[in-house]
Amino acid sequence: MSDPILEMRGITKSYNAGQANSVIVLRGIDLSIAAGEVVALVAPSGAGKSTLLHIAGLLDVADAGQVLIDGEEMSGLSDARRTAIRRNDVGFIYQFHHLLPEFNAAENIILPQLANGISKTTAAARAAALLSAVGIAPRAAHRPGALSGGEQQRVAFCRALANAPKLLLADEPTGNLDPGTSDQVFGALMQLVRDTGLSALIATHNLALAARMDRQIRLDAGQLSEA
Ligand code: ADP
Repeated sequence: MSDPILEMRGITKSYNAGQANSVIVLRGIDLSIAAGEVVALVAPSGAGKSTLLHIAGLLDVADAGQVLIDGEEMSGLSDARRTAIRRNDVGFIYQFHHLLPEFNAAENIILPQLANGISKTTAAARAAALLSAVGIAPRAAHRPGALSGGEQQRVAFCRALANAPKLLLADEPTGNLDPGTSDQVFGALMQLVRDTGLSALIATHNLALAARMDRQIRLDAGQLSEA
């Protein structure tokens, strides 16, 4: 059997350790996501979803425990290797799109590929294919300010997939949208993830969206349980 795409073992994380305002956020997280598996991370606000996702995506480091991506242990790697993994192997989507406002939709998807050494022609073709897959090919030349919230978020999905990552991490990817739009935009994300066979960990507190994934896990009081 192939390695899990993401594995977390005994992950703990506190903020302000030893101070009066210290907070223990993660108390020993064990999590395994198989190739092609899409997992919902369900938790109330403040439970530590973002902290967990940031540690999984190498944007933050745990106090203890191990993170393995596609079987490779992340601790002890050089900064250069961690950066390369973060850039090539992990796609991250936030609640807010964080697109570059002075570049159009296609350029926002092309730029991360150029930073990764991909040719301009190949990058442009991939951007066009991704925009088409999420149903907004006609918006390619629009800047984020000229797009609706749902369209902006669809572009952010394409950008996260620009470098064909192995793992997608999403932090309330449609949490900023009204319920009807959220449903449609989430559908576009799921389609994209399924079409590419990506493994994903997607935080949401929308139980209907969580039910559309393969498995639901709950984060509560710093620990995970199967929902
Ligand atoms: P969620 O994403 O589930 O809303 P977070 O991971 O953002 O939760 O935060 C979990 C807890 O950790 C919260 O109590 C939050 O206030 C605290 N926290 C998050 N980041 C920091 C930080 N940099 N310094 C201190 N406390 C933090």
